[in-house]
Amino acid sequence: MTGLNDEKESARQREYIEKCREIIAERSEKSGRPLSAIVCTFGCQMNERDSEKIMGSLMEMGYERALSEEDADIIIYNTCTVRENADKRLYGRLGVCKAYKQKNKDMLIALCGCMMQEEHVVDKIRKSYPYVDVLFGTHNIFKFPELLYTRLTGNSQIIDIWKDTDEIVEDLPTRRKYSFKTGINIMYGCDNFCSYCIVPYVRGRERSRDPKEIIREAEKAAADGVVEVMLLGQNVNSYGKGLDTKVTFAELLSEIAKVDGIGRVRFMTSHPKDLSPELIQVIAENKKIARHIHLPLQSGSDRILKDMNRHYTKEQYIKLALKIREEIPDVSITSDIIVGFPGETAADVDDTIDVIEQVRFDGAFTFEYSPRTGTPAAKMKQLDKAFVQENFDRVLSTVQRISKEQAGRFEGRVMEVLIEGEDEKDASRYTGRISQNNVVHFPKMGFSLGDFVNVSLDECMGFYYNSKTASGCLTDALC
Ligand code: SF4
Repeated sequence: MTGLNDEKESARQREYIEKCREIIAERSEKSGRPLSAIVCTFGCQMNERDSEKIMGSLMEMGYERALSEEDADIIIYNTCTVRENADKRLYGRLGVCKAYKQKNKDMLIALCGCMMQEEHVVDKIRKSYPYVDVLFGTHNIFKFPELLYTRLTGNSQIIDIWKDTDEIVEDLPTRRKYSFKTGINIMYGCDNFCSYCIVPYVRGRERSRDPKEIIREAEKAAADGVVEVMLLGQNVNSYGKGLDTKVTFAELLSEIAKVDGIGRVRFMTSHPKDLSPELIQVIAENKKIARHIHLPLQSGSDRILKDMNRHYTKEQYIKLALKIREEIPDVSITSDIIVGFPGETAADVDDTIDVIEQVRFDGAFTFEYSPRTGTPAAKMKQLDKAFVQENFDRVLSTVQRISKEQAGRFEGRVMEVLIEGEDEKDASRYTGRISQNNVVHFPKMGFSLGDFVNVSLDECMGFYYNSKTASGCLTDALC
């Protein structure tokens, strides 16, 4: 697919939104109630952001937000293929949906996201789940209004999956999940081809967005009341490759932090091989940029890192992490770790544990390796499950011990917190996050969602803090 132009294509899709709007209004009048929609998101922040865009189109069409799948007139599953058994979970949900469809004959089901880029999944849906109405992939999310219109005016299952694209179509409605924070895609796809990872195959080659458009999106979000943005990409540190204007990720980050109204900027995810000294310096010098870097380690063994195609060594990773700790005081470093990659020995796992001990991660997602069809590692000889479990337990207990010790280091300090919601266990309290990403529960004291406030971190409860007081709204000062 070539030759699309963002403005032209967005206008075309907006026309389809209008056409869908007329049909939804008719159906709503006939049924005597507003129609409602739900988008169920699996996986990463990129999917979360895509779901906000899909919800944006649906709400422009006249759908209201449904509270549950059972109540919805259209369900969209935005799928993820990174974790094991994702397909089984989806097929289970589709089984339940069949019963919902029998109750509500006009109900629609749409599937999108990374799983739809896998041929065997699409084949299975086509054969075994004919009642699924629309399937689309990661490269043509923007086409959702057109595909839905085709389904609303026809009878057959609509399948439109693109193998790849070099186009970016962004100028479509979006409905943010939170009024005060949002993600902004700065790039799509990945060129790294880590040997265990399916992402380059399902999300395509790396494409960076024009920095001016990203800044414009941040300004618009700020004008709408957003105070925290998260810049999203599979490997944000390689942002800018292929753009006509030479811009580094560090430069972009510092420009976003200048946007009026934005009080905090986060980003996700950093590849250790591309994290530059310039980026560390920009973070260190700019208080608006969160003191949190997610830096996936994956393994501490040089041999396994080579087989994973990660392009750094244990030594290089440790050096980088310690430099970050030295130059950005109070920074929190979190990570992803895979245990049980083909060929991994107990000695390799010792190396991983050694890195955890030396870097002292503030948190780490620890996963047992699971083969993803189509990746080089899936063809390698797989390890014995009991052996992997034993190593996984060793890694997990080290991660848990160290991250608990790390969390305690802010106890007794007063820190800036962005209020994100009500405490689920106590309606008289709020839940928020400090710049380092730790969660804090504290009394409401007349503050509002989206405010930055100073909170005294009185008691560390392991992975979160309980506080007795919050004082002084900092929003104006920060933004
Ligand atoms: S950097 Fe590696 S792990 Fe991350 S998305 Fe790209 S291929 Fe996957």
